[in-house]
Parts: sequence; C-alpha cells; structure tokens
Amino acid sequence: MINYGDFLKKIQNKETTCVDFTNEILDKIEKNKHLNIFISVCKEKALAQASESDKRFSDGNPRKLEGMIVAIKDNISTKGIRTTCASRMLENFEPIYDATAVERLIAEGAVIIGKTNLDEFAMGSSNETSYFGNVLNPLNTEYTPGGSSGGSAAAVAAGLCHVALGSDTGGSVRQPAAFCGTIGLKPTYGRISRWGLVAFASSLDQIGILASDTADTARVLDVISGADTKDSTCANVPPSHTFDNLHKLREKFAFGVVSDELLNNCSEDIVRAYSYYVDKLKSIGGEPKEISFTNPSIWIPTYYILATAEASSNLSRYDGVRYGFRAEGEGDFVARTRSEGFGMEVKRRIMLGTFVLSSGYYDAYYTKAQKARRLIYNDYNRIFKEVDVLLMPTTPTPPFKIGEKINDPIAMYYSDFFTISANLAAIPALSFPAGTAANGLPIGLQLQSKHFDEHLLLQLTNALSK
Ligand code: GLN
Repeated sequence: MINYGDFLKKIQNKETTCVDFTNEILDKIEKNKHLNIFISVCKEKALAQASESDKRFSDGNPRKLEGMIVAIKDNISTKGIRTTCASRMLENFEPIYDATAVERLIAEGAVIIGKTNLDEFAMGSSNETSYFGNVLNPLNTEYTPGGSSGGSAAAVAAGLCHVALGSDTGGSVRQPAAFCGTIGLKPTYGRISRWGLVAFASSLDQIGILASDTADTARVLDVISGADTKDSTCANVPPSHTFDNLHKLREKFAFGVVSDELLNNCSEDIVRAYSYYVDKLKSIGGEPKEISFTNPSIWIPTYYILATAEASSNLSRYDGVRYGFRAEGEGDFVARTRSEGFGMEVKRRIMLGTFVLSSGYYDAYYTKAQKARRLIYNDYNRIFKEVDVLLMPTTPTPPFKIGEKINDPIAMYYSDFFTISANLAAIPALSFPAGTAANGLPIGLQLQSKHFDEHLLLQLTNALSK
C-alpha cells in the first residue's frame, strides 16, 4: 500500500514528480489488470491533473490534496467519464456532472486515476454480481475482495491509489476494507453529500473512504464532507476538521464491548482479534463496559426490507427511454430493457422491494420495518449515552473464496450482519485492519460512535495503530 504522507516527502525531496508518480501508478494498474479492479482508467485526464499539480508545487501553492491519487467507485458520477454501476444498463453512460465529493477532490488537486469495479448497483458483498466480472482479492486471488466496493478496497490494497471512494448502504465500504486489510470509513448519514452517488437505498446510502492509513482518510474526509445545497439530506454542519486533530485523542474514554452471545456468530479468528483489541483499547485509556443490543436478530430482515423497497423505487428510472441501455426490437421494450439490462441480484432486489411495497403487504412488511428501524436507532442512542464508542467485528468470518456464497443469497446477506445496523441508525463506523486469520487473509474490526463523531473514530484508530 502507498500513502500520501510518504508521497509528499518524496515530492519535497524532489525524488519524484506528480507526473512521474502518476505514470508509475498507471504502469502498475496495467500490470495488475488480471485483478479486474478498474472498469475505466482515466490516463489522459489523470496526467493532465498531475501536470497541473507539478506546476502548483513548483509555484509553492499546493492545494490540500495536490497530486493525491484517488480511485472512484463506478457508481459515483464523474463528468465525461463513463459511470456504469457495473451494470449493462449503464455500460456506456457518461454523466454530464461530477458528484459533489468528486468535485471537491478535484478542486483540492486530487488526481482521479480511474473508476473501480463493484457489485452491480452496489448490491452484493463479494463483487461477484458485476456485469464486468468479479474482482480478485490482491492478497490471494482465490478469494473475493468483499463488496460492494471491492474494486476500491482492492485498489488501495494493491497500491494502485492513495485513497479510494466507495459507497456504503449496508457495509459496502467496511466489509471490503476488512477483506483487503485497509481502513474503511462510513461517515454519519448526511456527513458527505450524496449528490452524484447513484441511488440504491437513499435513506441508507453514504459515500465512504478507503485508505491505507488514518491520516489519508482524515485528509479526504475534511475535504469532501460538509453541507451541500444540491443534496437536501446532507447535514447543514461544517466540514470535519480531523486531520489537524488526529493526535488529540482525549485521555479517557468509555468503550462498549458486545456480549459473548453476539460474538458466538463469529469465527474463532475474529473472536481472538476482538479480545486482543479490547485490551489494546484499555491500554490507550479506554474503560470497557459491556453493552447489549435489544434485538440484533431484527437487523438483517429490517435492512433487506427497507433497502429492497427503496431500490425498487430508485431503479424504476432505468426504462430504456431516458438514458442507458435500450433493448432492440418492437413491442414492450421497457420490460425487455429491464430483463436484459439488469443482472440476477438486481432483479431479485427489485422483485422483493416491489413485493414489500405492494398494497396488502405494505403494512405487514414496509411499515413494520420502519418501526423496527426506529427501535435500532433508539438502541444506539441509549448505548451512546453509556459509552463513547463501540467495538464490533466488521464481519462474522475472514474473507471467503470466490464462488463460496454466490448461490446462497441468504448466507451472503448474513455476511453483513455486523455492518448494517450502523446504516439503519445513521451513525458513523470505521473498519480497521486487526490482524491476520488462519487462512492468511486480513481481519477487520469496527469502531462505531454517535452521529458526527468521525474524528473520534479516526483518533482512536490512529492511536491503536501505534
Ligand atoms: N452487501 C449489502 C447489500 O448487498 C450492502 C451493500 C452496500 O452497502 N452497498 O445490500
């Protein structure tokens, strides 16, 4: 992995230039093509941005992210650069505007290197539902990199960028981060504008950050967070101010430890890592407190009812009339466009979501799930009155093999067990690398906090990494 701090030193010592470094990364991307990480590589644009960055450095007025190599998940809009959502439906779709997050990165000098592969429309946990084929885990190519931001996590892990943006609706930044040994931050709902993030489940979706260290995560969070008039669900709060305060962790804090019962769902490797990090948190000033959730068994069903309901509505816009793929021939082209344009998993979600919203079933499923969501939200509010942060596993198991779960959707859905509650409660959560499993692949653990405490998550992770 590479980090921006090291890169800046090399620039200052004149050991490299932004253009040389960008070229090096482009070569490396080419050599790692078999991993299938990128759907599009933006060679010309990246080199043009890099050359502007070199000029800024030599003029002595670099911006906050000058020359930083950033990869963008391919469900985040990039002006004039194909944005496919890894779907046949948008195979040739070129947005006419940048997502707010991307616009802010570019305004601070970031070099957008390419668009990363994902599960189709961000639906999945293994990157196997992509129309462009699955991504291989760079640490062991028999394994999945996780999903749906698997391309972004793999890009960071393989050293093909400093930082990558992903999206997290139910764990899609944190789970692949755990599987690839990187940091993955899902901010508070509303922390980062969703303008330009292609909608999956709008009340849960949030752009997140994948990086090799806390400093790079904080640098990018500080730049892309903050109010945005283009997104009415974006919170009207100032941008985060974390990078400069990364080392200012308070001396004492209370952290929540989950019950053994909850950890029973995890493999041995994860349980071992969990108790190791309980001790580590104590050693940096943490006071442990056992917390209990009222009813964790409602997390998965609640999520899969609400997420599919919202997805069925959001994805109704792909009809072959306005943009994207359109099936050939006469007759009912809307039905054929949707049959041919969407893959299996997306269709499964649209059907499920349409069902839970249908008259007669609406109250039994959708309304009930909304009430269940409120219980989960209240549960977290109660917990964060007792503790400042909560330590949780990111995933119940270490990375799994390609093909292992793809034919068992329920098993696949349960790999999100520990991540989805944060989306339902709209709180921030960060997965950090927490050692190695018996299969030689990385394990991630997660810190969660109350709304808008991203700085605390990053300060703690920073202290833990020392
Ligand atoms: N794996 C979850 C799902 O398939 C989460 C996806 C996401 O966060 N985008 O819905």
